[in-house]
Amino acid sequence: MTIKGLIFDLDGVIVNTEHNHFLSWKAIADKLSISFTERENEQLKGISRIDSLKVLLKMGKVEISTNDFDALILEKNEHYLASIADLSEKDILPGVKVLLEDAQSKGIKMAIGSSSKNARFILNQLGLTDYFEAIIDGNGVAHPKPHPEVFLNAANELGLEIANCIVFEDAESGIEAALKGGFYVVAVGNPHVADQASEFIPSMLDFNVEDYA
Ligand SMILES: [Mg+2]
Repeated sequence: MTIKGLIFDLDGVIVNTEHNHFLSWKAIADKLSISFTERENEQLKGISRIDSLKVLLKMGKVEISTNDFDALILEKNEHYLASIADLSEKDILPGVKVLLEDAQSKGIKMAIGSSSKNARFILNQLGLTDYFEAIIDGNGVAHPKPHPEVFLNAANELGLEIANCIVFEDAESGIEAALKGGFYVVAVGNPHVADQASEFIPSMLDFNVEDYA
């Protein structure tokens, strides 16, 4: 495999804001008197905010109006944005910065393929924006993961063939999306999804771009 491009999911791969998401959804769940723990939160990982609220409501067998739905979507995001406002370079997950620098020095192109509508904000907070030639986020796709659109758009914007790109993912929906798109998928950090991907690594420290270039 000749690797010319690396496509990264954001949450759980480059930075871990899963706990921020959990606390924000927990606040919404409490408001609706829906029982919600880290265990239920697993079902929300990697899917869009709108789909997450749908799943949450289904869990609690709660029905609400469209207006209330829209208001809760905004409220969740405000809670989350407030909680991630102090993210900085120290929050970048181990091995990520070294890999980005290494890949950049070898002329390998890099993109973000994330469901998050806050991807650009987070990358700015982390000081990583300039590493990426393409940032495909939740604002730019019609079909969220597990649809492959986000990764196909990323490869397309990089001007690369799918066969020359590796996707890094930590969530089931993202791995499914990348596999459907025909990509080689490296599962990072989440042992629960290890056997679903092309390869599993405990952290980015375990990935050496030279093994693929
Ligand atoms: Mg993720």
